[in-house]
Amino acid sequence: MTILLIGAHPDDEISAGGTITNHTRAGDRVVVLTATKGGMGHRTRPTHELIPIREKEAATAAKTMGAELRMLDYPDGNVPVSTDLVNEIARHIRDIRPDIIITLSDETFHPDHDAIHHCALKAYYAASLPLLTLGLPAWDVPCVLYYAEDVYRKHDLYVDITDTIDTKIAAGACHASQYTEWLAEGGSSIDGWDYTSFDEAFRRECRIYGGHCGVMYAEAFDYMRPPAPRALKLLKG
Ligand SMILES: [Zn+2]
Repeated sequence: MTILLIGAHPDDEISAGGTITNHTRAGDRVVVLTATKGGMGHRTRPTHELIPIREKEAATAAKTMGAELRMLDYPDGNVPVSTDLVNEIARHIRDIRPDIIITLSDETFHPDHDAIHHCALKAYYAASLPLLTLGLPAWDVPCVLYYAEDVYRKHDLYVDITDTIDTKIAAGACHASQYTEWLAEGGSSIDGWDYTSFDEAFRRECRIYGGHCGVMYAEAFDYMRPPAPRALKLLKG
């Protein structure tokens, strides 16, 4: 199986860090694609200093989870919903030929996340069009998911990450410019989580999702495009 994660910023993929690690440990290919290099994600470092730091952080985080990394260079904080970006994502989809795409929800305060949600939706459709010439054969992605944004409601799908929560946290720690500088310096962040201890924030979120489905730690997702329905001979309880 091949999974493609489409995010706006280096570190968005950590929302699925346990799921990524479950799959790479099982021998699956996982590719992390980010639209930006995260050049606006700091309070004091200028963009030209920050970008190489975030490139290294993203590469180390991907390696920690056993994933591949691809980074585009769209402007952080101003990701466009544009034909250029849609077609560029569609080209990566055709090149990688994923069985599953995981991307960002539109239930978000961040305009870049909202932009990527819409671009990824358009790109998965564009990638499937045989007459759209992108230099690679068309590819129809069977399943598209997006990260859960709301810990207080039930979601479509949960993944048990009890065995990989520590790797998720280790991968998050690779993004030190974010979790130990940007968010921690700001104290309680705009979405109300206390990031002065990012590892406890991760554990708390994953414990809540785990409580929804009866395991210690879980990550949650919703379907943008559910898998094709299958007919059963017998119901399963
Ligand atoms: Zn982000």
